[in-house]
Amino acid sequence: MSYDEVAMSLPATYQAHLKEKITLTDKVRDFVLELPCYGNDFEYEAGQFVLIKLPHPETGDELSRAYSIARAPQQGCELILNIEIIPDGRLTPLLDQVEVGEEIDVQGPFGYFKLKSPPEKSLVFVATSVGVAPLRAMIETVLNENPERKVALYFGVRSQEHIFYEKDFEELATKYGNFEFVLTLSQPAEGWEGSKGRVTAILPKIEFDSDTDFYLCGGKPMIDDAKKILLKKNIPEEQIYFEQFHL
Ligand SMILES: Cc1cc2nc3c(=O)[nH]c(=O)nc-3n(C[C@H](O)[C@H](O)[C@H](O)COP(=O)(O)OP(=O)(O)OC[C@H]3O[C@@H](n4cnc5c(N)ncnc54)[C@H](O)[C@@H]3O)c2cc1C
Repeated sequence: MSYDEVAMSLPATYQAHLKEKITLTDKVRDFVLELPCYGNDFEYEAGQFVLIKLPHPETGDELSRAYSIARAPQQGCELILNIEIIPDGRLTPLLDQVEVGEEIDVQGPFGYFKLKSPPEKSLVFVATSVGVAPLRAMIETVLNENPERKVALYFGVRSQEHIFYEKDFEELATKYGNFEFVLTLSQPAEGWEGSKGRVTAILPKIEFDSDTDFYLCGGKPMIDDAKKILLKKNIPEEQIYFEQFHL
């Protein structure tokens, strides 16, 4: 393939309009972006990501980072990105300064972290913090398509102040009887009566059906540990899918 052919096959870059910025915790926000799609839908699959591109304020160099789409595909051109602001990061503090109504370059969709399991399989999703973003899109998709499907989400954050999306997943668990939602805190403050410990401390205690597929998303330590635990439980490697966000 020539360079021109490669460039032609890349997804489009859009000037997206920042429609809403929802503060979920001190550091985590939902960025709601409206893409100019001229009557078409923005097509992607649950689990995929887009690139956000911002110019460096001093050098003008383009900074580009990947963000998973945190919502099941639907009609229209609105995207929700669930983003943690990293105080010493290069892009996220700049992104946090973008005001509602301003424009941001967005390219996509990209990525192969998609739902690959046949419909008869049970699904277990494991996330830490914003790693839940692509999993939320996948969970909404599978439950919309098959309300009877056996699906579980193990979601780990540090403490009470880091919790987000709890109500959304609890509502899904109420609506879909086969959806189990477990929120666990690795360092809960006093008074927490829910699950305690890292997601990877919970996984060894659970008996999984042999026909379960696993989708993991978060930082490298969680993914490495979760994979080790699942392999030790004799889950075949090909039943474990993962996306690593950072080192
Ligand atoms: C496929 C893919 C999808 C992604 N989807 C999302 C998403 O939906 N939401 C999201 O917030 N991020 C997501 N990321 C991470 C994102 O691309 C950036 O790496 C992150 O936002 C940090 O960018 P930055 O420029 O602010 O920090 P950088 O200057 O790139 O990094 C600063 C330091 O922070 C570390 N770091 C990065 N992210 C985290 C984190 N969450 N917690 C702790 N340390 C971190 C880096 O390893 C580095 O050491 C995704 C990454 C990939 C590869």
